Amino acid sequence: MKLIFLGPPGAGKGTQAKRIEQVHNLVQLSTGDMLRAAIASGSDVGKQAKEVMDGGNLVSDDIVVGIVAERLKDDDLENGFILDGFPRTVGQAKSLDKMLSDRSEALDAVVSIDVDDELLVERITGRYTCAKCGKGYHDMFERPETEGVCDRCGSTAFSRRADDNAETVRERLKAYHAETAPLLPYYAEKGILKTIDGMTEIEQVTGQIDEVLNGIN
Ligand code: ADP
Ligand code: ADP
Ligand code: ZN
Repeated sequence: MKLIFLGPPGAGKGTQAKRIEQVHNLVQLSTGDMLRAAIASGSDVGKQAKEVMDGGNLVSDDIVVGIVAERLKDDDLENGFILDGFPRTVGQAKSLDKMLSDRSEALDAVVSIDVDDELLVERITGRYTCAKCGKGYHDMFERPETEGVCDRCGSTAFSRRADDNAETVRERLKAYHAETAPLLPYYAEKGILKTIDGMTEIEQVTGQIDEVLNGIN
């Protein structure tokens, strides 16, 4: 299955992609993670992306499409993938269509996780991850079983993203509404858009996505 998880920052794309990839044997492809890895490596792409990301704006289509095109060449994607955070503009969506059609492939579904803006600020400012294994947590909504210890790997080191502050979130939401929301009618027209309610508990959101995926199998 080839899927896109679409939604505003903080909607739960990453959280759900990590849960769904295990059950359905897919690979999560997060452009945000790829860009942060590029920044950490000190590459030219990373240098160009850093300032844009810190300001809450979108990295250029050229850079992001280039990163995805490279990743799609890897041979671990035979069973399918979940694009998390890509595409974010109609230009990126068109490039993706082209990349897939060149390989005689097509998307199976675009899962749109619908969450109101007011909830997103709360979700993003409370977000943190395990510094060792990357598992996601939230100050209020997804706490580790033992305070300060990662459920999955036992690490006691956690990190927060530089761009997860109230000010940058507002910029990111603006970018979402201006540039990314037009993807909803774009995919609806293609007949592959599946909209789910992202304002319920994590478990219930996973259940809704599962139902959608079982329907297209
Ligand atoms: P995205 O990848 O769309 O930006 P995340 O998956 O990182 O969003 O989720 C943002 C934050 O909100 C994380 O801290 C996560 O633990 C929390 N979260 C995700 N889904 C829910 C939910 N359904 N209810 C409450 N909190 C959630
Ligand atoms: P979130 O999970 O909060 O939606 P991401 O980790 O997906 O955030 O992305 C973080 C930042 O990386 C974005 O604010 C943007 O600057 C950049 N970015 C990630 N994916 C893309 C993309 N497809 N196009 C342009 N910029 C992107
Ligand atoms: Zn961990």
